[in-house]
Formats: sequence, structure tokens, C-alpha cells
Amino acid sequence: MSLTLDQSRPQAPRQERIRHDLVMRNLDVAEKTYLTPNMIRIVLTGEELEGFTSPVADDNIKIFVPDETGATVKRSYTPREYDAVNGRLVLDFAVHQAGPATRWALDVLPGDKAQIGGPRGSKLIIGDIERWLLIGDETALPAIARRLEDAKAGQKMVCIITVPGEADRQSFETSADVEIIWVHRDELGVSPTDHQSLIDTLSKLDLGEGDFVWLAAEGGVTRKLRAYLMEDRGLDAKWIKATGYWVAGSADTTAKFD
Ligand SMILES: Cc1cc2nc3c(=O)[nH]c(=O)nc-3n(C[C@H](O)[C@H](O)[C@H](O)COP(=O)(O)OP(=O)(O)OC[C@H]3O[C@@H](n4cnc5c(N)ncnc54)[C@H](O)[C@@H]3O)c2cc1C
Repeated sequence: MSLTLDQSRPQAPRQERIRHDLVMRNLDVAEKTYLTPNMIRIVLTGEELEGFTSPVADDNIKIFVPDETGATVKRSYTPREYDAVNGRLVLDFAVHQAGPATRWALDVLPGDKAQIGGPRGSKLIIGDIERWLLIGDETALPAIARRLEDAKAGQKMVCIITVPGEADRQSFETSADVEIIWVHRDELGVSPTDHQSLIDTLSKLDLGEGDFVWLAAEGGVTRKLRAYLMEDRGLDAKWIKATGYWVAGSADTTAKFD
């Protein structure tokens, strides 16, 4: 029996890990603004930013903040933007039922100190991706925004983004060929742990070979969407990168599926 390789099918992308030395940095809060009603943008500066690197859109750093007892805890955030020339690191904090990191972002003022560590590693996704599907909630917006901004001209990309309401939509600078579908939870009367509104949106989308799905939202939502994509839409796990960026009812928790 001879096996023939179907060369018309795109090969599954591979994920390549780049390790970085773990560096802790003591920085200053230079600016704080509300990007949208439920997103706080904080700009960090300081000499210790020297050598900071974040090559991939879904990299994350840890920010060290006090909890309600005064103990230091760490939480994951996406380096939304890094300007090495001017020494500025931008982080965007979604405002929600506040844990210590959200509380810190709500309370912090320009002139205050901030401590971060990382990124410890970056994961490149390399392969014949014809179209990216980027699906996420507001915690995924910084990574989605970076992916859109980094994309090559004409790259096909579709985003499904769930936000509290219309005022929480953001605009992105990109030369990619992008369609963005916003899901406004207030209009639908659903919470950020609702998966059905995202499945309903996805069900109207044709999916085909060469589509790579990047997905980050609440852990249970992520698990259900991943199962829907694989079981109901026939996607291979190698064409999906799914991460629960937070887990309802559980502090400092990430859910990994691949
Ligand atoms: C790789 C990675 C990158 C991330 N990047 C970002 C980013 O750039 N911006 C950003 O805002 N978040 C980001 N997150 C998510 C963020 O780390 C979590 O939301 C984190 O739990 C917030 O910390 P906290 O101290 O406010 O709440 P915690 O102390 O961790 O949790 C307190 C309570 O709040 C709940 N909770 C946590 N997050 C949410 C939420 N979004 N909505 C509703 N309830 C919530 C928890 O279930 C818990 O019950 C990222 C997560 C990962 C894994």
C-alpha cells in the first residue's frame, strides 16, 4: 500500500517557543487614561525598561500588586505597545469585578511605582495561514489589537470580540483585510461567561481550510467555543490556539487547552 501526501491541503501551523531571561523591572506610572469606559490604559516608563522585549502579540508580563491583606500577588497582562526609543510600555486593564490588579489600575496615579516581570517566553505561530479568526473578550483586546497591527498588508482576518457595550469598541490601525464583528453584551443581556452569543455569531461564519483560530476569553467560554469549533465545525486542534485568560469565581487562574 502506498500513501500519497495531499499537497493541496495547507500544512498545520507549528508553534515555536522563544525563551527570554526573566527580568524584574521597577518602573514609574507616567500616564493613566480611560481608553473606553471599561478599559484603563497605563503607560509605564523608567530606566529599567532598557532591554525589554515582546516579539509576539500574545506575550504576557506579570504585574506585581498588593492584595487586600497587603501581600504581593502577580497577574498576567499583555504588553499592548512598547516604544523602545522613548522608553514607554503600554498596558490596558479591563475593568471588571475588581481583583487586586484591577483595583491597582483603578487606584494608581501618575508618579506611582509599578513592578513587572517578563515576558518569560513568546510563542510564534508559523505556517500557511490563509485567514486568522481572532475571538475574545476585553481581556484579549490588547493581544488582538497587536495581532491586527502586526499583520502583513492584505492578510485576511476576522475578529469576533465581546465587550460590555458599544462604547467599549476600539479602533485599530492595520493594513490587513479585516472584518470585525462586535458582540455587545448589554444589548443581549448576557454576562462575560456567556458562550452562546459567540457561538451564534460563529455559526454565521463560513470556516474553511487555512483558517487559524486564536481564542482567549473566560475559561468556560473558551472550552465551549473550542469544543464547538472541533466537534460541530470540524476544525483540527492544530488550527486552534485557545486560552482561558481568566476563570469565573477563581482568582489568578488561566486555562490552557493546547
Ligand atoms: C496571557 C494573558 C494575558 C492577559 N492580558 C490581559 C490584558 O492585557 N488586559 C486585561 O485586562 N486582562 C488580561 N488578562 C486577564 C487578567 O490576567 C485577569 O482578568 C486577572 O484575573 C485580573 O486580575 P485581578 O487581580 O483583577 O482579578 P483576580 O484576583 O485574578 O480575580 C478576582 C475575581 O475577578 C474575576 N475576574 C477576573 N478577570 C475577570 C474579567 N475579565 N471579567 C470578570 N471577572 C473577572 C475572577 O474570576 C475572580 O472571581 C490576561 C490573562 C492572560 C492569561
